[in-house]
Amino acid sequence: MEVLIVEDEPEIAQLIRQTLEKENFSCCTADNGFKALTIVQQKQPDVIILDLMLPGLDGLEVCNRVRQQAYSKDPYILMLTARGEEIDRVIGLSTGADDYLVKPFSPRELVARVRALLRRSLRHERQNNQVCQTKHFSIDLDQHVATRQLDSQSSETLDLTTLEFNLLATFLSYPNRVWSRTQLIDKLWGNDFFGDERVVDTHIRRLRKKIEPDAANPTFVKTVVGVGYKFED
Ligand code: CA
Repeated sequence: MEVLIVEDEPEIAQLIRQTLEKENFSCCTADNGFKALTIVQQKQPDVIILDLMLPGLDGLEVCNRVRQQAYSKDPYILMLTARGEEIDRVIGLSTGADDYLVKPFSPRELVARVRALLRRSLRHERQNNQVCQTKHFSIDLDQHVATRQLDSQSSETLDLTTLEFNLLATFLSYPNRVWSRTQLIDKLWGNDFFGDERVVDTHIRRLRKKIEPDAANPTFVKTVVGVGYKFED
């Protein structure tokens, strides 16, 4: 497992590197955004620890560019922010970071977050085997079948439209990731979409009716006020 650390303050970069290497992660570092993009291309890291405030190309721009490239491995991005209030900005811009950590953080917290991302990374590989699964849901992309676990004994096959199926598959591939409407549109319609982005809300409403025990108080597809949606299970 390769971790790329993008941090312009050498002491912090060194601390992160030592912490992760002690836990047997293989690490490389970059002290600015352009170097980071070159390393991402060459090494295809599994996880990128990305400082928000960088000289030249900042963390948000690096995140955007990484997400726009079609790498064989879609890296998991842990964004580092100096102040709590910057998190709102990071999430608000919805650049596709998977998690956030506010400085100063403890080495233990950092390791826990990276581990959590790598667990997701394994899930992501399963998805490449055309099946993705969370606690209550399972989607087989080859067979185009979505099922919901009702209890330990039984499950039901969900009756979804293609769009609802793709929406659920997107959510299942990235649990807890916050999606803006625009990002969901890109994922579901690609560049062919012309219209009001609130059409996403309509499909979310329909999906909730089919998968939520109580669609009025969703437990799986959560609204993130002012941003969009995320899937929790
Ligand atoms: Ca910095």
